Amino acid sequence: MPTFDLAILGGGPGGYVAALHAGAKGAKVAVVERDRVGGTCVTVGCIPSKALLDSSHAYWLTTHGEEHGIHVDGARFVLSQAVARKDRVVAQLVSGIEALFKGRKVELFKADGTLVSPTQIRAGDQMIDAKAVIVATGSKVGVPPIRGLAEAKPLDNVSALALTEIPKRLVVIGAGAIGLELGTFFAEIGSAVTILEMLPQPIAYADAEIVRVLVRTLEPRGVKVQTNAKVTEVVRSAAGIVVTAEIDGKQESFEGDQLLLGAGRIANLSGVEQAGLATNRLGITVDDRMRTNVGGVWAIGDCIGDPRSPKLAHVAFTQAEVAVDTILGENAVMDYDVVPNVVYTHPEVAQVGFTEAQAKEKYGAETKVARYNFRASGRALALGESDGLMKVVTIGKEQRIIGVHIVGPQASELIAEAALAMRLEATVEDVAATIHAHPTLAETFREAMLSALGRPIHSAR
Ligand SMILES: Cc1cc2nc3c(=O)[nH]c(=O)nc-3n(C[C@H](O)[C@H](O)[C@H](O)COP(=O)(O)OP(=O)(O)OC[C@H]3O[C@@H](n4cnc5c(N)ncnc54)[C@H](O)[C@@H]3O)c2cc1C
Repeated sequence: MPTFDLAILGGGPGGYVAALHAGAKGAKVAVVERDRVGGTCVTVGCIPSKALLDSSHAYWLTTHGEEHGIHVDGARFVLSQAVARKDRVVAQLVSGIEALFKGRKVELFKADGTLVSPTQIRAGDQMIDAKAVIVATGSKVGVPPIRGLAEAKPLDNVSALALTEIPKRLVVIGAGAIGLELGTFFAEIGSAVTILEMLPQPIAYADAEIVRVLVRTLEPRGVKVQTNAKVTEVVRSAAGIVVTAEIDGKQESFEGDQLLLGAGRIANLSGVEQAGLATNRLGITVDDRMRTNVGGVWAIGDCIGDPRSPKLAHVAFTQAEVAVDTILGENAVMDYDVVPNVVYTHPEVAQVGFTEAQAKEKYGAETKVARYNFRASGRALALGESDGLMKVVTIGKEQRIIGVHIVGPQASELIAEAALAMRLEATVEDVAATIHAHPTLAETFREAMLSALGRPIHSAR
């Protein structure tokens, strides 16, 4: 007889949320995790990177506060102390998850796990029997096949978040979220950062206009982004590293003291290689209820192969709830229409739904776009952070909101209102009719709607 209702392989955002959700619904749950619960996100991803970015932002404000009347002589950033603070934040969250497990009677097996059958996981030398299994093994760094790259031992998210010496010059491969965020962090604490991106624009999936504002704003902070740069070779010597990239058909060299690999993560299938799970080039194949091809086995989070599913913690959270609800016989389906996506640079970039280009391709002339510039926002000016743009994409006569794109201070918080509006299928009139507190950054959302309606107040159009 199975001992558990549910066994979960991997205790990251997918696995631990599945365990807590199932535990709250009365299921008897086992989690197998070889490292710390919280996974990549809590221990070497979302949380530690944001903890360090908050430290570097505080330092940046301290050392660039003349406009506010702040003059600090001899300000220093002691990286080892910021890293120690980051470690305390992580430790607190890890122990919080462990405490929640105890409260919901989730049994944690700290071991390497292997899925040996649809109802059995081997955890170290113990065998766990369960009625259903969720695979939540996450992702790992994918090293692109570039000459000399592996030998040069680039920093990855784990080692970069643990550095205790500030590199004078940092070269980053890849201008996606990870490269841009860590690049911003090191630039704010004094590194000269060059990010090399193979594609014509950083954050390939983002709105082109938003990205242009970001790149323009990052440059004076010490982050230089070189696009259309295909890295062809990396050489490390005692003096540092030299990265060669092909740009417009010419070879150019970039020198650094450290190299950071910010490009691409790939599904981690360790422990499930022999389980007979169907996979595609991205990871484990699943349907919209997170079911794999093997009866009784579900898969969620970064390890799955669904092109609609971005590798994000909140996507894993939601998939965890869908999988558990399906296992418990409820009618749950994963919906990817409204998934906010944030890059925590300074300023931040956040988006949800269709970009202008995607909307025009799908809806043609039905598409309308409205903008509001943060320079017209009283709150943004008061903060001294007025580089920013709010952009709203709508369709139809009623102007239903199908996309919102923000670059600006606290975009990560502002995007939540946009996601809710889209989830409720709100029109621009619905948002315009909603009183927003003044002065707030959130007002930029309503002001963009007023522009869309052709009756702007705090902007010319
Ligand atoms: C630097 C960085 C910053 C990021 N920032 C953000 C952000 O700000 N917002 C956001 O939404 N996302 C962010 N992400 C992405 C986010 O971390 C992932 O999407 C999320 O962690 C995926 O959760 P998961 O549970 O699928 O996998 P993971 O978090 O990778 O967890 C998988 C777990 O399974 C364990 N495991 C794997 N195989 C086995 C096995 N065989 N036996 C036992 N245990 C096993 C691993 O040890 C790990 O703990 C970031 C990622 C990185 C690298």
